[in-house]
Amino acid sequence: MVDAEEILGRVADSGSTICQYPEDAEILIVNTCGFIDDSKKESIDTILKAAKLKDDAQCKKLIVTGCLAQRYPQELRKEVPEIDHVVGLKDFDKLTDLSGSGQKRGKDHSAQCNDDWRNRIRLTPKHYAYLRISDGCDNNCTYCSIPGIRGKFYSRTIENILEEAIIMAGEGVKEINVISQDTTSYGTDLYGKQQLHVLLEKLSKIKGIEWIRILYTHPRHFYPELIHVIGQQEKICKYIDLPIQHINDTILAKMGRSVNHAYVESLIDDLRSHIANLFLRTSVIVGFPGETDEHYDELLKFVKAVQFERLGVFTYSKEDNTPAASFKKQIPQKIKEQRLREVMLTQQEIVLKIHKDLVGTSISAIIDEKDESNNGWLGRTYGDAPDVDSRVIIQGNHVKAGDIKNMVITGTVGYDLTATSIKSGKRSK
Ligand code: SF4
Repeated sequence: MVDAEEILGRVADSGSTICQYPEDAEILIVNTCGFIDDSKKESIDTILKAAKLKDDAQCKKLIVTGCLAQRYPQELRKEVPEIDHVVGLKDFDKLTDLSGSGQKRGKDHSAQCNDDWRNRIRLTPKHYAYLRISDGCDNNCTYCSIPGIRGKFYSRTIENILEEAIIMAGEGVKEINVISQDTTSYGTDLYGKQQLHVLLEKLSKIKGIEWIRILYTHPRHFYPELIHVIGQQEKICKYIDLPIQHINDTILAKMGRSVNHAYVESLIDDLRSHIANLFLRTSVIVGFPGETDEHYDELLKFVKAVQFERLGVFTYSKEDNTPAASFKKQIPQKIKEQRLREVMLTQQEIVLKIHKDLVGTSISAIIDEKDESNNGWLGRTYGDAPDVDSRVIIQGNHVKAGDIKNMVITGTVGYDLTATSIKSGKRSK
């Protein structure tokens, strides 16, 4: 999303006109994802749809960029001859040349990341935005293709990030979603030590920013000052995205996660005891090579015991040029899918129970958009990130997009909650 926003900014800056609909465009740029099978499939479907517009609409030039382009340039050119140019992640400069109107800026990738936000055209609603604080990853989890695609970890400077956040606030952004491949490592490359807690304190001082949400942490990289700041700083949502991936020691070691069961369990205890009313989100992978029934049962038992408020589950995806792709005892797809279904059903029961317990309590929520079907509004509690988590269906018409209000939870609908708003004020559960 942030890459796409920055690409749009570059293209608009170079004099091209951005079209709202692909059918109207002479040049189509498809920004792709490509780190697991599902994302590759989605990207290829989108490229094929765009390629069709060369016959059916105005399109004269089709450019493919992003992670899939970085990873498989030759294959894309060969398989989809309609593609005119494939542009890797380090060559965004070329996009303005290829679209026929721009000049090359010629900067290295990290300089590019420190500067590209200046022209960024945000695609999110006015009241929330993603703030990328660093990119790349040095963790080398054995299943993961991301370090190979996005390169080594590097952080933006604190000053540069604050400059962008202040502009966002001035433009009406109230909720900042802090992202990176590993937010908890922020600053280690630039400052020689972890600096996320310092950055969060500074972001909290920006007038207009009301919510700060931290996504994509690494369990190994939590540290006491960070936990303290999240617990104490009023503007930081009591929400942590903590992908554990697995819990069995053998699997965690084979995944290269550098944590074990005891460590993760004690970290979660620490987080829950220092951060009141915490919504903990995690993601897990089932069917990693060598995952026995016993390893999997341990994971399922852990999910039941911890009762994560939010959880995503993926089947292991065997990725080219990753160590795990050559591990023995790859798990059949059917078993992976059975395990995925069981974790999902288990989590469904957990969420329903957590949501039932919320009925009758008040909780802080942000209003996202009008709900035309219901003559009301759709929003999210502080425990829900945009796009991935649950929503709140708000009855009544006395709010507007971007409002942050206390809501009384009145009921549940599937994974979502229903609520009525009371008054703006403190976050409570
Ligand atoms: S920390 Fe995340 S991005 Fe980095 S290698 Fe591991 S899974 Fe991939």
